[in-house]
Amino acid sequence: MLPEVYSEKRFGINKENISPNALSIINKLKNNGFSAYLVGGCIRDLIKGLLPKDFDIVTNCQPEQIRKIFKNSRIIGRRFKLVHITFPDEVIETTTFRSGSDSSDDALKIDDDGRILRDNNWGTQEEDAFRRDFTVNAVYYDPFNKEVIDYTSGIKDLKNKSIKFIGVPETRVQEDPVRILRAIRFAAKLNFSIEEGALRAIEKHKTKLSEMPPARIYEEIIKLFLSGHAEKSYELLSKHQIFNILFPHSRNDPRVFGNFFRKTFSNTDSRYRNNKKLNPGFLFATLLWPRIFEESAIDTKLNFRKYYQSVSSVIRKQQTISAIPRRFVSFIKDVWMYQIRFNKIGKKSINFSKNIRYRASFDFLEVRESIEPKLKERIKWWKEFYESNYDKKIKMLNIYRKRREPR
Ligand code: ATP
Ligand code: MG
Repeated sequence: MLPEVYSEKRFGINKENISPNALSIINKLKNNGFSAYLVGGCIRDLIKGLLPKDFDIVTNCQPEQIRKIFKNSRIIGRRFKLVHITFPDEVIETTTFRSGSDSSDDALKIDDDGRILRDNNWGTQEEDAFRRDFTVNAVYYDPFNKEVIDYTSGIKDLKNKSIKFIGVPETRVQEDPVRILRAIRFAAKLNFSIEEGALRAIEKHKTKLSEMPPARIYEEIIKLFLSGHAEKSYELLSKHQIFNILFPHSRNDPRVFGNFFRKTFSNTDSRYRNNKKLNPGFLFATLLWPRIFEESAIDTKLNFRKYYQSVSSVIRKQQTISAIPRRFVSFIKDVWMYQIRFNKIGKKSINFSKNIRYRASFDFLEVRESIEPKLKERIKWWKEFYESNYDKKIKMLNIYRKRREPR
């Protein structure tokens, strides 16, 4: 099958937006007699005039050979081999064309549900295009020949703003159910709609997400919520009733917590735009909060033991679906446990305000306000307290104590 080949001129691709490291890799591979292209997310971004955040390269050079050509590289991957080429400021993923279709070959292993377990079957560029997930992800660009190569009508779907599976949607979802989250993520990120057939396959197989390796689900959750489109991701996950498959133990009732999530995520997105730090621990503390909030009665009559039990159990249960790295587990627990310390104002408050987790815990207190409006006064008090010097802190504590003493 012949691909559509377009001249780069048509898309006004700005070379300035391409990583010089990526260009040098492609150049070197070509000098060694191989073909090499940019592919995937970076092409979508370049064509839309955006600055890509990372560059994926694909070549007919095999991993061991790539390894030999680039000293600064290493082979990684269990599910399939690829090469990371490392520079001081970035790592560029370089993969070999894969066929991913010939199940008679040892290199491809498929389980009883039609799921791909291993896929190390090198192939041609055409085969490589068809094993990719969505048409908009299978466009290749050769920055030296200045050509854009499209086997799957990806360019058309970029224009139509459509997320469409390559091949039969149901088969593609069964092969790798994580593609469901990828469809949602690209729709959220690009503001595209998901094609009808894809939607039907997603609806039919979405519960399989809970059988996927927790580490992969964790990675996808991070990309869904910490790449600048969290609010839209939340909206789409809710609309397609996938949110509660990813976070069943959170027990999110959108009628109660919808605003809470929308507000927090719009805040997350603006932090992203301002290049502020985004902490996965804070994200999970938010995602799982509904359960803690409902079980603990944190603001009325808090039962400390029960609160602590909810905190531990909801994290443990979530980990069967999405792994959460250990350092973030302790962060989440601290931030939740410290919410209690905002209830008690006294001598220990000075030390608390110096705690390394104080800022995060306070930010979380602010997040809670949308479901607990009465926190407003308390938030104001703690903000002023935090910003005061020692003498003023003592004064504030005295005033607070006097007010509470019986006259
Ligand atoms: P971004 O980098 O913006 O998150 P991307 O499209 O580059 O998006 P990656 O996860 O970096 O996504 O993957 C690079 C390319 O590899 C994709 O564009 C797609 O062609 C292919 N790919 C990745 N994951 C899968 C998958 N699960 N099934 C099929 N193809 C995939
Ligand atoms: Mg990418």
